[in-house]
Amino acid sequence: MTKVIVPGSFDPITLGHQNIIEQACYLFDEVIIAILNNHNKHSSFFKVEERIEIVKQLYEKINKIRVVTFDGALVDLAILNECKIIIRGLRGLSDLDYEIQLAQVNNDLSNNKVRTMCLFPDIQYQYLSSSMVKGVNALDKSVEKYVDPIVYKKILTKRRNINE
Ligand code: ADP
Repeated sequence: MTKVIVPGSFDPITLGHQNIIEQACYLFDEVIIAILNNHNKHSSFFKVEERIEIVKQLYEKINKIRVVTFDGALVDLAILNECKIIIRGLRGLSDLDYEIQLAQVNNDLSNNKVRTMCLFPDIQYQYLSSSMVKGVNALDKSVEKYVDPIVYKKILTKRRNINE
């Protein structure tokens, strides 16, 4: 049984992330979505608890998906879960250098026990990022096209709360 881990900030989770998660579900037996608990709370849009709740809600009916959070080394979480593969999404050349560095660090930290595989998003998600969604939202423009309806609703609620 092949288990993979899909890490990220998911702040917020976009249709691009979801495209990679769907591909991972198609290819592997179990998918662990690992949400980074970045301590720099001031720069995050959703708190980690909110991000966990959103991702859990999105995938509550998919048995092969588990949602966890992490704030230490990703490879430790992978090893703890007996998982040998980290899945990353590669949008284009601009992601490549960073992903190679990250993969090499994770190879080193795990003594090559945990390896990285990259998947490519479908073409319509190639230019989509969480930062882009946050930027468009900050301009008071709709991000409906870029996220699942569940996520969109949460963004609208957050926007209302910020403006109140
Ligand atoms: P972002 O890079 O959008 O801030 P994360 O830090 O949550 O998002 O990234 C987690 C993983 O998801 C990374 O491997 C990143 O390359 C990938 N990813 C993010 N957006 C997309 C997308 N539109 N298509 C494919 N992969 C993506």
